[in-house]
Amino acid sequence: MRLLIADDDKTSRTMLEAISRVWGFEPILAEDGEIAQEILKQDNPPRLVLLDWEMPKLDGIALCKWVRETQSRNPAYIILLTGRHETRDIVTGLNAGANDFVTKPFDNAELQARLRVGRRMLELQTEVLEIHGQLQFQASHDPLTGLLNRGAVLENLEKELARSQRDKSTLGIALCDIDHFKGINDNHGHLVGDDVLRELSRRVVGTLRPYDHIGRYGGEEFLVVVNEQDHWGPEPFERIRTVVSDSPFQLDGLSLPLSVSIGVTRFSGTANAWDLNELLNTADMALYDAKKNGRNQVVLAA
Ligand SMILES: [Mg+2]
Repeated sequence: MRLLIADDDKTSRTMLEAISRVWGFEPILAEDGEIAQEILKQDNPPRLVLLDWEMPKLDGIALCKWVRETQSRNPAYIILLTGRHETRDIVTGLNAGANDFVTKPFDNAELQARLRVGRRMLELQTEVLEIHGQLQFQASHDPLTGLLNRGAVLENLEKELARSQRDKSTLGIALCDIDHFKGINDNHGHLVGDDVLRELSRRVVGTLRPYDHIGRYGGEEFLVVVNEQDHWGPEPFERIRTVVSDSPFQLDGLSLPLSVSIGVTRFSGTANAWDLNELLNTADMALYDAKKNGRNQVVLAA
């Protein structure tokens, strides 16, 4: 683990560098508080910090406070190093944001033990952050297809509606439903049905641009939101339709010809307000027309 050592005293710095290397750390040296601050501002900075209190330009206390104000997500673990040992000094250091305190002249075994505690805390912190990230992903994504789930794609739709109103741009909101999906589950089993959902998601995502949105809206139904800067038309949705129907799905030794029906509604950013349920109902009615008219087609709501 990298260890930032900030100390203006050259002898002390050299000694800390040598000993921390023996203890298995990768020391990074700073001879004053400003240099230490520059190092901490870099991308992926060292997280374990040994900080001298008295330093020119920016002292250890000021640097502690700066770290606590600027690093919130994956904060550094700071051990303050000082000749001061009055209780009120220790309180000042801890209040400024130091995690721990070692008084000079320090005992080697004690410093090593405190650095180990710091390393352990940082490893735990990293683990917690990873789990947090995984939970966030799970809370917003459909586990089968990896697409956004219903809640998350509706949240994105609301953001896009607000943005299109701001930009006076147009939004295409589409509900896509796989035709005769129940028959696939009935004839080939649910595992093949799951494969169909995954393969279809992969194909459809390939037709979208990075700033379009897609989510799994229901069982075999998907919500697609397309931002139309230039003109409004069925093209993006025709691309989805054809990428599904152009070639049969090759799954598990089967060759399955598939199609989707798509109902689209348009939202103009010049509108004063919107009603989310009404927009979704309009797209749903267009989808109903697409099914009724023979499936494998895109219907734009009037
Ligand atoms: Mg000093």
